[in-house]
Amino acid sequence: MVKSFQYIYNDEHSLNQFIIENGLDRHPSLFIQAFVGNSPLDAIQELQDQINRLVPRSTLIGCSSKGQVADGKIVSDIVLSFTLFEKTKVKALLQEKSDSSKQLGIQMCQEIGQADTKAFIIFSSHLQLDVQEFLDGVSEGGGETVIAGGVSSDLPQKRHTYVFTNQQISTDGFVSASLNGNGLMVQSHAVEEWQEVGPAFKVTKVRGHIVDGINFMKPIRLLEMYLGERFVNDLPDSSIEFPFLAKEKNDSVAVYIMNVLPNGSVELSQEVEEGQEVSFGFASVQDIIQTTTKLLAQLKRHPVETHYVYNCVARRRYISEVTKQELSYFNRISQVSGFFSYGEFGRKGGKPKLMAHSLTYLGLSEGVREPIKDLKVDFQLTPETDAMMSLTHLIHTAEKDIQELTHNIQISEEYYRSLFDNNTDFVYSTDLNGRFNSLNPSFIKTFGFTKDEILGKSALQFIREEDTGRVRRHFYRAMEGREQYYDLPIASKNGEVNFFQIKNIPITVDGECVGIFGIGRNVTKERQFEKKITQLAYYDGETDLPNKMKFREIVDEHISRAKKKKREMAVLFLDMDRFKMINDTLGHWAGDLIMKELAKRIQATLPKGAYPGRFSGDTFTVLLTKDVNESTISDITDAIMKTIQTPFTYQGKEFYISVSIGVGIFPRDGDESTDLLRNADSALTRAKSKGGNNTVYFSRDMKEDNTRKVEMEAHLRRAIDREELFVAYQPIMNISDQSLIGCESLLRWHHPSWGMISPVEFIPLAEETGLIYDIGKWVLVESCLQLKKWLDQQADDFYISVNVSAQQFQHPTFHCDVKEALVISGLKPEYLCLELTETIMLHDAAHTIEVMNSLADLGVKLAIDDFGTGYSSLSYLKHLPLHILKIDRSFVQNMNDHTPDVAIVQSIATMGKGLNMKVVAEGVETNEQLQLLKQLGCDYAQGFLIERPMSSDKMNTYLEGRNLVPSQKP
Ligand code: C2E
Ligand code: CA
Ligand code: CA
Repeated sequence: MVKSFQYIYNDEHSLNQFIIENGLDRHPSLFIQAFVGNSPLDAIQELQDQINRLVPRSTLIGCSSKGQVADGKIVSDIVLSFTLFEKTKVKALLQEKSDSSKQLGIQMCQEIGQADTKAFIIFSSHLQLDVQEFLDGVSEGGGETVIAGGVSSDLPQKRHTYVFTNQQISTDGFVSASLNGNGLMVQSHAVEEWQEVGPAFKVTKVRGHIVDGINFMKPIRLLEMYLGERFVNDLPDSSIEFPFLAKEKNDSVAVYIMNVLPNGSVELSQEVEEGQEVSFGFASVQDIIQTTTKLLAQLKRHPVETHYVYNCVARRRYISEVTKQELSYFNRISQVSGFFSYGEFGRKGGKPKLMAHSLTYLGLSEGVREPIKDLKVDFQLTPETDAMMSLTHLIHTAEKDIQELTHNIQISEEYYRSLFDNNTDFVYSTDLNGRFNSLNPSFIKTFGFTKDEILGKSALQFIREEDTGRVRRHFYRAMEGREQYYDLPIASKNGEVNFFQIKNIPITVDGECVGIFGIGRNVTKERQFEKKITQLAYYDGETDLPNKMKFREIVDEHISRAKKKKREMAVLFLDMDRFKMINDTLGHWAGDLIMKELAKRIQATLPKGAYPGRFSGDTFTVLLTKDVNESTISDITDAIMKTIQTPFTYQGKEFYISVSIGVGIFPRDGDESTDLLRNADSALTRAKSKGGNNTVYFSRDMKEDNTRKVEMEAHLRRAIDREELFVAYQPIMNISDQSLIGCESLLRWHHPSWGMISPVEFIPLAEETGLIYDIGKWVLVESCLQLKKWLDQQADDFYISVNVSAQQFQHPTFHCDVKEALVISGLKPEYLCLELTETIMLHDAAHTIEVMNSLADLGVKLAIDDFGTGYSSLSYLKHLPLHILKIDRSFVQNMNDHTPDVAIVQSIATMGKGLNMKVVAEGVETNEQLQLLKQLGCDYAQGFLIERPMSSDKMNTYLEGRNLVPSQKP
């Protein structure tokens, strides 16, 4: 049996008494450990003498210490721990420091180690002795032998610390004892529980044990930054409490600072590598308690006869409550003695290791004891420890949050990177002076410059001088937070000039603009294409004059200017009197030639500020914008009549043509283009009805047609209530497989006495009078209800397309009306398509786009109707949420002549595809048209060839027929 006695030193007399009382002097194998606190050399020598005198056969090892443990309590006096062995022999050895600590370790094992050595107890006088090396030597020399012990002090310079045996004493050495004998059973354990606190750092400069850089900072700066000045002043002591945790493969090892060099570098207890990650470690109280509790449970089952405990000083300082309880629990198993050290020895992963902040113990027995039953382990935490745990927990979670944040930032950074690097558009950024600071690969590819040729240079250096002002303006506007779009010709390195669409957006950091992003795309082909389309759609192919559409646009433009400047203008409508006869007698070929000649002659007579156009067939128009008054107008009309009356020669024959002219004056005869043109046209009609070859100015009395309108309006008001309105449906076919894809609702008015009235007649009236709101709403609900019925009957799956007039669309409740129709009918939004005309864009464009977006959000489809007849530029469509494009039937119907219409239809179809819209051709009447449309890439067709508009009843029959024989269409 192992017996132990702890004596707290008083004087020689009482020591002697203690020895005699406990019969220690008579025992053959007495092992003494002396923990002398900060006793000076002479006191230690005195103690050696006394022991040698009183118990000459004893084996003594001892060391200086900072806190001693006797009977499980922490005391500040000298502690002598006596152990009496029955079957165990103890040998001791003191070794002075030498060049190789490792060699010392090996030697120690050779000198006091035996075949039956069960444990080595080792004390080292201070930390600067390459303690780990010594342990490595022990590992080599002593194999698996259990080790325990600790380091007396951190720095020998600060206070003299000693290790000693019975005879020797040293300030620079190791003292060891071997416990030998097969009757001895040892249990040992090293409890070291670290948790990382705070961020991870990287070792950036290192020479062996000396670290010159962490995160590219002087280590001392980093420590001061994170742990404060007091920590730094207290180094290397303080490092025991907050060591670095150096990350190794699956583990992290506590490494502490042993020395601070004058240049701010630090010397560590262990080598670390460049690039290795380190963080601060702090004892994890929870984990410690858990591990200790487990240990105690084990010790309760197999109690040892005595205990030596070597604890880290930091435990005493920071978790003293836990440490005290720990010691007292250990002491309940068996008596505990030991000291607080600056580094403890134990095995970790099988290897002897120098540890920090740990509890290491060595339990000894020579016999087997009964398990201990009545020991309940329940650690009580003091408020301080609680607070500390909360604090470390807080640091921990904060750190986790930061890690998560960093991770998220990394991800979004990668997202952003991919957007940047993989974008087929070129992307660049500039600083606030417009100097490039980043480019993506597409940029390099597009322009052929290298990065070095671009970065740091001003963007303005790469564009034409005449564009710099404009680009600068866009740049400043973007800086103010407004997104900018513009086209810009840019030459690549090889001199080739292309057109790019550029988008500039501000880069804002913390609400402040720090630069500009530019995104660009080569749009040269698109622009050429658009130009061609515009030419085709806006100009008459024969005479190159603006067509009706373009002419209206020109008039609109000048009206808004004339309004501002309060100027008068005039519109002339010219119609050739006997042109039909020329066509009939000479043929179209000749007619076309003469038409060209006519256009030339008219143009030649016109003064500055006059804009000619070809309105239709043989009707020309002229807008006069400068110096307009009755006399200048009549000068011009006279000149025109004269030039036209000059005979034309064709195949040697002369032809005489005369012209009728109608004149409308702005603003007198209309302050909007529609009125002005209509009135000039009325004047022309009057001129023709007077026999032609004359000029008529518009006058009020020409407005008498209005009476019929007034009457019709009254009837229209009652038409809804009297159920005179109904909806006809016209199927829309998918050209590729001839399936039914949709149908258009077309409003009909059956008047009891006037008969059928065309929507072409009454819709404009309804628009003028505002009746269109109620009518439009009614059509919407009626159409949705009807389609829902058809879908429920499980007829084909198709959508309904409802015409919406511009006024109706602009109405504030329009969005709600649509929603309501869907709710009333129960129709899913994707089955409803709204046909809008380009005229809606003439109103408040911003509002229009907003409504369109909200409708698209609802899930409703939007179509642009009568496409090609409107005014809006094609490129504008790109920014609208449109799904379907309906090519006006005039294009479809002219396709078989030698007109530009085939090219127009083709362009529209291609454009539609590019914009991801389905293209519907309207007014398909012949099979040739259908085949041609198919070739041109139109998706859907609608027209008399497929079906005429029909009542719901007829449509029922039609659908039934389809359901019987699924796809049997032309
Ligand atoms: P739209 O929207 O262009 O409608 C197509 C017109 O072309 C219809 O005339 C239809 O009967 C006709 N059509 C269809 N296939 C062919 C064909 O192969 N050849 C020919 N020549 N014509 C064909 P409809 O029914 O007379 O309607 C005329 C216009 O009245 C519509 O033109 C539309 O703008 C307007 N409209 C009709 N119903 C409504 C409505 O409920 N609300 C509004 N705001 N406008 C409507
Ligand atoms: Ca339509
Ligand atoms: Ca149409």
